[in-house]
Amino acid sequence: DALVVCDNVVRIYQTETVEVQALQGLDLLVDRGELIAVVGASGSGKSTLLNVLAGTDAPTAGKVRVAGHDLTDLTRTEQVHYRRHVVGFVRQQAARNLVPYLTAAQVVQLPMTIAGTPARTRATRADELLDLLGVAHCRDRRPVEMSGGEQQRVSIAVALANDPQLLLADEPTGELDSETAAEVFSALRTVNRELGATVVVVTHDAAVSGQVARTVAIRDGRTSSEVLRSEETDGA
Ligand code: ADP
Ligand code: ADP
Repeated sequence: DALVVCDNVVRIYQTETVEVQALQGLDLLVDRGELIAVVGASGSGKSTLLNVLAGTDAPTAGKVRVAGHDLTDLTRTEQVHYRRHVVGFVRQQAARNLVPYLTAAQVVQLPMTIAGTPARTRATRADELLDLLGVAHCRDRRPVEMSGGEQQRVSIAVALANDPQLLLADEPTGELDSETAAEVFSALRTVNRELGATVVVVTHDAAVSGQVARTVAIRDGRTSSEVLRSEETDGA
């Protein structure tokens, strides 16, 4: 059962001087419940792919469907709903997802407040997410009082606040030392396993791509090959 279907997706950026073909006929299928790594050289189109899947960047041509939503043809209202409820996005710099003066519990509740979730439900869900991600101890701390790995796990909780079906992560371990990176990646696996969210993670980190069941390689804006790996065993 495919959650994500990309069919011959093209994304062209037109600047004043040049035309950049960031995606040049990309095909990709991601099943519900999968956790995949997307790898590729700098400039190969990985961020563009995530931005397209996030609904923030419309494809120039081709088809993109996520959870039944046709992303080539979203009305403004559908786009708001899609970004709020269907996808969650985790950036490389966790600080960008956090707000300096809000505690972890407050920042995780923020997307739920915007979505109109009642206060009691917000508080409960925020605590559950922080607990699941191993950062319950950060609930009353502000970003400055957290380590980089804790900030990144709280920002994953923010992305999950409105229970998205698809979690997108752009180099979520990029700025972390290897031990902290392993912790953050393990949190993504927990999200995939415990919440059933489909996870697409862009990474340069071989330790990360080595631990997922499927790695998709992108080259010059196309999926060049799909490296299949056996399912990782728990605790390995
Ligand atoms: P990656 O994430 O693999 O490093 P990107 O998706 O960021 O690759 O970029 C793919 C190509 O598209 C690069 O050549 C990049 O410079 C170009 N590009 C990305 N975003 C823009 C933009 N907003 N305007 C112009 N060119 C862009
Ligand atoms: P990454 O390597 O992680 O993709 P980049 O530094 O390439 O990060 O891109 C950061 C942001 O800048 C992205 O949102 C991308 O779309 C945009 N961008 C990348 N290349 C260009 C470009 N040539 N012109 C304008 N914006 C760009």
